[in-house]
Amino acid sequence: MVVELISVGTELLLGNIVNTNAAYLSRKCAILGLSMYHQSVVGDNEERLSDTLRTALDRSDVVILSGGLGPTKDDLTKEIAAEVLEMPLVEDSHSRKRIEEYFKNSQFKIITDNNWKQAMVPEGSIVIDNQNGTAPGIIMEKNGKSVILLPGPPNELVPMFENDIFPYLNKLQPETISSSMVKICGLGESYVETQIADLIEKQSNPTIATYAKTGEVHLRVTAKASDEKEAKKLIKPMVKELKNRFGNNIYTTDEAVSLEETIVNLLKEKQLTLTTAESCTGGMLAARLTNVPGVSEVYKQGFVTYSNRAKRKLLDVKKNTLKDYGAVSDKTAKEMAKNGAFITGTDVCVSITGIAGPDGGTPEKPVGLVYIACCYNNRITVNEYHFKGGRAKIRENAVVRALTLLRETILEDKD
Ligand code: ATP
Repeated sequence: MVVELISVGTELLLGNIVNTNAAYLSRKCAILGLSMYHQSVVGDNEERLSDTLRTALDRSDVVILSGGLGPTKDDLTKEIAAEVLEMPLVEDSHSRKRIEEYFKNSQFKIITDNNWKQAMVPEGSIVIDNQNGTAPGIIMEKNGKSVILLPGPPNELVPMFENDIFPYLNKLQPETISSSMVKICGLGESYVETQIADLIEKQSNPTIATYAKTGEVHLRVTAKASDEKEAKKLIKPMVKELKNRFGNNIYTTDEAVSLEETIVNLLKEKQLTLTTAESCTGGMLAARLTNVPGVSEVYKQGFVTYSNRAKRKLLDVKKNTLKDYGAVSDKTAKEMAKNGAFITGTDVCVSITGIAGPDGGTPEKPVGLVYIACCYNNRITVNEYHFKGGRAKIRENAVVRALTLLRETILEDKD
């Protein structure tokens, strides 16, 4: 089945907003196994929007339009779609009631006349409630084709797609699609791809798609079958094969689970407590960990020691270490980790010290040089990294590598 996207909005053409809806919808359509050959961006212009929709309907089975469902005059999407599909607009009493309710509960209590425009829907269409706004989503079916209208704001579009449109599209297809996300840390994208080159070459059902994330590689295994159970049966041996190949580097096969969440669960399982000691990442590692609900059971303290003085005062890093080897050195990283664990009385401490740039690099210690250490049971592991990219990328990479080292250290513990 062929699907096509039309993003509506002059501000998208001007570059005033980034078309995150298109990226999101494309990803979701790929997961559904739909073929997508075209995407367009159109301004709020009657004629061009109408032409674009007609062209899309000529070559695709499903056309998804996002944006332009608002109450103002330049919001034209629904009106144009109704005209092109020859489905006249009629008032939908359910949507009218929902608009009244929405305003009753909102800080803006006054309903203006143009708000009722949003209760008008193409006759015979399927109306989808908007949980976060007033514009309902709409599905129009005609001559074996579907046109789906979604509101532009992502906080309205995303839940609507997840709850209603995804299942609708899944049902339209003769086959069900199911997928698993195999998440890998500690290995580079090219290494992972080389290791699965043979699987990719002979793949048919299930398929494997590779996604490179900062410091991680995700492999989506997708299968098509007559029902969900059959699809899952096809996925299982492939995931098993990936587990054989990547072993402990796979931290989850659940799309919703993050690296930090698996670490927090591991710490809980082993009843270990954790401290972080950061320099160039300025608390980013602590922030990632404390995003996980229930982390307080295992995470006790985070040090942000940016200056040499702070490293000395708070983490007891020796003056001579800093003088002889520098703040960015394996010796400093080790002392930060060891002393961090000792001072707080926790089982594990992970430390990061590095040069995030853009200034501060030297030929011996270039921008991107980062040392990460982990101390557990008085055993200290320290690794040296040379990250590429700008300041943000270097810091993000350092955090993911610190999480990876932390996970490896805990997993190595056989007690
Ligand atoms: P509203 O009811 O707010 O008028 P709408 O359905 O008419 O919604 P638009 O007017 O096109 O949608 O866009 C409203 C806002 O939604 C934009 O200002 C922007 O913040 C966001 N938005 C619209 N389209 C996109 C997009 N493709 N990607 C990301 N954000 C978008």
